[in-house]
Amino acid sequence: MNCKCLFNLLFFTTFVILSASQYGIEYSSEPSACVSCLNNKTCLPPDCFCCRDELRLPISKRDIPQIVFFTFDDALTDSATKFYHRLFNESRKNPNGCPISMTLFVSHHDTKYNNVNHMYRKGMEIAAHSVSHAHMSNANFMKEAKNQKRNLATLGGVPENEIVGWRSPFLEPVGDMQPNTLKKLGYTYDATLTYSKRSLKDNAPTPFTLDFGWPYDCKVKPCPKRRHFGFWEVPVVSLLDYLHKYDCVYVDGCNNPPPDESSAYKF
Ligand SMILES: [Zn+2]
Repeated sequence: MNCKCLFNLLFFTTFVILSASQYGIEYSSEPSACVSCLNNKTCLPPDCFCCRDELRLPISKRDIPQIVFFTFDDALTDSATKFYHRLFNESRKNPNGCPISMTLFVSHHDTKYNNVNHMYRKGMEIAAHSVSHAHMSNANFMKEAKNQKRNLATLGGVPENEIVGWRSPFLEPVGDMQPNTLKKLGYTYDATLTYSKRSLKDNAPTPFTLDFGWPYDCKVKPCPKRRHFGFWEVPVVSLLDYLHKYDCVYVDGCNNPPPDESSAYKF
């Protein structure tokens, strides 16, 4: 399978916080749907969270931890599992002493489900990435999302209520049908829709609920057009390639990849 999914790293860039007075916060950099949501004041966590590119928390920037969200896609084979063991070895810990972890978006074909169970027991989040790893459409989406959740539960021993995340193969969404179907099947978030920064200095959107729709450019069509209350979207924020010329959503899918290991490390 030629999917360049393996080394996908989603960087939740440091959430830069600007001090905002209690009154008259300006949201000029946000899309208008986000501004409506933020001004509306009825969209409140945990059921609703407005799209935004800054959290605007009333605490100092220094005190906000940088969150790095690692996600990997595709079949959980023996060799992939061996590699993940090296990456997520026990010497790598969060500042609070807990081991670092990741989300695995697992597709069915070629997956060895004992590895799924093993990763789940190590504390990794197990999410779904379809059965066939085919292109999703209105015709196959329901079946793929339903059956892969079932596979992960019955073959991988992951409690069904903990399989709440979905990513479509090739990051190709199927419009409004996607959140509608996922919600029906007990998923709480999607991580398929992509966002491109215009420059490295731009902030990236934080995860948000689709209560006011998908407000950003639709990079891979069709994106949802309607509002989906309480359903979370975790945007895939593309990196700029090594020469800062083109977007790349997967680290191994850049047009201009870093030329060697040390440049990859710095990248
Ligand atoms: Zn994939």
